[in-house]
Amino acid sequence: MSQPPATPSLYDALLEHFDRAAAHTDLAPGLLDQIRQCNTVCRFVFPLRRDDGSIQTIEAYRAQHSTHRLPVKGGLRFSPHLTQDTVMALAGLMTFKCALVGVPFGGGKGGVKIDPRKFSVPELERITRRYAVELLRKGFLGPSLDVPAPDYGTSEREMAWIADTYMTLHPQDVNALACVTGKPVALSGIAVRKEATGLGVYYGIRECLTIPEILQQTNLSPGVAGKTIVIQGLGNVGSNAALELHKAGAKLIALAEIDGAIHHPDGLDVPAVLAHREKTGSILNFPLPGLHEIKNPADALEIPCDILIPAALQNQILAHNAPRIAAKIVAEAANSPVTPDAQTILHQRGILIIPDIYLNAGGVTVSYFEWLKNLQHVSFERMTRRQAENS
Ligand code: NAD
Repeated sequence: MSQPPATPSLYDALLEHFDRAAAHTDLAPGLLDQIRQCNTVCRFVFPLRRDDGSIQTIEAYRAQHSTHRLPVKGGLRFSPHLTQDTVMALAGLMTFKCALVGVPFGGGKGGVKIDPRKFSVPELERITRRYAVELLRKGFLGPSLDVPAPDYGTSEREMAWIADTYMTLHPQDVNALACVTGKPVALSGIAVRKEATGLGVYYGIRECLTIPEILQQTNLSPGVAGKTIVIQGLGNVGSNAALELHKAGAKLIALAEIDGAIHHPDGLDVPAVLAHREKTGSILNFPLPGLHEIKNPADALEIPCDILIPAALQNQILAHNAPRIAAKIVAEAANSPVTPDAQTILHQRGILIIPDIYLNAGGVTVSYFEWLKNLQHVSFERMTRRQAENS
């Protein structure tokens, strides 16, 4: 079997996307160059004592794409595939995402090059806390400087460890809790931050399906109900988007996870699939007559459907598989799942792409409110009660 070509640099892809958009502006070339480049990137290693007593060296990064607006904002990723190139590109996407939705942050991104499934919870806690200390020592963490949030492989648990580490080392900082967002609600997080990105994906798709030009180009009827949908990646973003689309009456005909995909032309009961995974650890072997299992999850991307939602990782639709994508809309829930070459092919084939910086901006938007709430030291409930009482 022939191998697909090597995956392209994500940072080069970001620059190419930028240049395509910049061609439509009349800004001076020098200024455009300053906007497009990643300002700072920090790579560091630190030791981890594993539960068996051995020492392992851990590699980590934090990139600040633009410090034009502060703090810098962007997720923390735990992935064995993490590279400096990836964090620089993902930080850039955060700059443009925040600008697009009017959230006054610069763009950042960070991560640790590990597969979190291969570490115990106490080991993950030691990694996260040491990562936070390293960021602090380098001036890469703080409510007014750089504020991480959950991303691929991390959740509110890691954010709680970061907040606690920061507060321990900065007991005098009254705004300490605003050093990170996506915290548990009990630790001054904000309701719905966990679901926000997936919900935003749903709202973004729902809005697109009301726009006459889009409906005409894609030959789709208005509304989400009845649309056939394929989702790749049932993590935080993918599962919340899937639940919301299912609730709205869409037909989720295929769901893909890292260990394989499931497909049924009549649609899948998303809450039941998620409950099955909770119980068994996998979406495979879901008990449904006529269910078709697909060994290689990448093959699910090519199932004919109205809307394909890549919600796992970058570089999933490339020049080699773009000609076989059989969706009318590709909705980028993940960051940068379509390479620039693949984008050109999809456009030539009349397939509409809903871009990541619009579609997955729900998370950073709600993070902004969490940050504000932490700085204001008053809960939104109290604020709205006072307003209600005064009106
Ligand atoms: P997550 O770690 O919660 O979930 C990712 C899921 O994808 C996991 O269940 C994993 O098993 C699955 N997966 C990995 N490789 C796969 C493959 N080849 N095929 C099928 N499934 C695969 O991560 P997340 O927070 O949901 O993030 C997903 C994407 O959304 C990332 O690109 C992230 O940068 C982006 N994003 C996340 C947020 C957020 O708030 N969490 C915000 C904006 C963008």
